[in-house]
Amino acid sequence: MVALAAKEIKLQSNAIYLMLPLELYRKLLFFYGRQNWWPVTEKGKTIPTYRSRKRLTETQKFEIAIGAILAQNTNWKNVEKAIVNLNRAKMLSCKKIARAKQQKLAGLILLSGYFNQKAKKIILFAKYLEKNYSCRIEKLFEKPFGELRMELLSLNGIGPETADSIILFAAGKPVFVIDAYTARIAKRFFPGFLKASRKASASKSLYEEAQIFFESQLPSDLEIFREFHALIVEHAKRFCRKAPLCKECFLNNICQFFLGGKNEENPYLRGIV
Ligand code: SF4
Repeated sequence: MVALAAKEIKLQSNAIYLMLPLELYRKLLFFYGRQNWWPVTEKGKTIPTYRSRKRLTETQKFEIAIGAILAQNTNWKNVEKAIVNLNRAKMLSCKKIARAKQQKLAGLILLSGYFNQKAKKIILFAKYLEKNYSCRIEKLFEKPFGELRMELLSLNGIGPETADSIILFAAGKPVFVIDAYTARIAKRFFPGFLKASRKASASKSLYEEAQIFFESQLPSDLEIFREFHALIVEHAKRFCRKAPLCKECFLNNICQFFLGGKNEENPYLRGIV
């Protein structure tokens, strides 16, 4: 249950937060506006563009899945260059990638980094789709969430972040994606969440812990999950960098990291966390 007006919330342990994830989402949305992730290529174009709620074509869903694999360990600008090259070479289709030579594909996606590994991964993914779904990615996406996630995770080169990005942005099923930016902001903004979830289960990974935390605090809403993820990425690039620009950040009056974290002088946290 989400109590919107609460300024403090008590979770499973004694951790108390100055604000809820949903309030953070609203503040980010108000400041940055809608991000409309994931950018996709319109018919006849080569550069992916951001779009609002229009329906995605099957080709665009496949493009997002390939983009999610290309996005591993790099930023979107580099992924975009690789997608543009694939579009220009008219290679961004399941059948073409399934039959492509690894070396040729690696040359096209060079700018996304780890190009040999990524070429191998996207060929394997396309071959899997061709063999099991006749290249119909929508057939794969018809599966219930749990089954779909397990199937994606069983594929070589697809980990939790990539699987969840594909499920959220291409399959259109609500799951909260945790990337390095989200983990960073969660640790700074909600420093008690790790402590709280570790008490609940010592066997979970940071990814699972952060995902459980956000999903337990937000309504299971596709648009909110998509936008929140994109807004977190934007905030992590603009202010909440590895070396954060806290003094300029519009959230510094409610951020536990800036207010002192576990510092005993912090009036909100003294004796609580
Ligand atoms: S105040 Fe600093 S740590 Fe907190 S959200 Fe802003 S940049 Fe990040």
